[in-house]
Amino acid sequence: MSRQVYINGTLRPEEQAVVSVFDHGLLYGDGVFEGIRVYNGNVFLLSEHIERLYESARAIRLEIPLAPSDMEDAVRQTVAANDLTDGYVRLVVTRGAGTLGLDLRRTSDPQIIIIADTITMYPQEMYDNGLKLVTASTIRNHPAALSPRVKSLNYLNNILAKAEGSDAGSEEALMLNHRGEVAECTGDNIFIVKKGIIRTPPPEAGILEGITRAAVMKLARDADLTVLETPLERHDIFTADECFLTGTAAEVIAVVELDGRVIGTGKPGPVTRKLLTAFRSLTQGP
Ligand code: PMP
Repeated sequence: MSRQVYINGTLRPEEQAVVSVFDHGLLYGDGVFEGIRVYNGNVFLLSEHIERLYESARAIRLEIPLAPSDMEDAVRQTVAANDLTDGYVRLVVTRGAGTLGLDLRRTSDPQIIIIADTITMYPQEMYDNGLKLVTASTIRNHPAALSPRVKSLNYLNNILAKAEGSDAGSEEALMLNHRGEVAECTGDNIFIVKKGIIRTPPPEAGILEGITRAAVMKLARDADLTVLETPLERHDIFTADECFLTGTAAEVIAVVELDGRVIGTGKPGPVTRKLLTAFRSLTQGP
């Protein structure tokens, strides 16, 4: 069955959901997006995703021609139209069509696109045994170039970093920031556990402030675990007891090796497993 794609207020069969070749989203990667999960027919942490989308848009001077509450309704409507109980929503807002040239005043009509689809996750084996990471030579964007906190349509440096991971046989790759500190992975945030304390890089480290990251930090604190946002070096990962990633697609997944060096016992650790269980029950609702 053809997917029903929401585009500017209308649901259309995917073949008819098209944008202009003059759209600056295509020409320059000028736009913002979100990836959101659907569990049991519920759109998970929708308002958090919508808030981040509007913040990303504001940061790039893009005015979304729809109120946030209407955007939430549009997402739910698209999920319902596709009979999706478990899946993934891709919400995109582009700058819209304009002249060839960077001037954003010569664009009009931002395009709002919502795709509801199924999701392919990491194989179960990786949840059981953990991921192996390599450090990419491609760094996160310098905050003075494009804030890494903006979830923009410009993902090229992450794409190139991910390719470095794939070349090395890893599903994910670690990205450092311009100071050489640990930032995050290409599509996931990173945490370590050392002597029972959970640490993750702060926003100033050049990360995307993951919605899953925030949810997992809250779950950990609710379970009386200490969570600190502190700068991390690769050294901290090599010497950690546990390491794990969080992300909309990944949920919570252990990392057991970085650059060929075993982390902790080399198996998913107890804190990681506890947080994965807590996170999965959160996704299933009250
Ligand atoms: N970092 C980057 C660069 C991402 O693209 C993502 C989302 N795929 C994440 C972290 C995780 O964020 P979230 O938990 O909101 O999916």
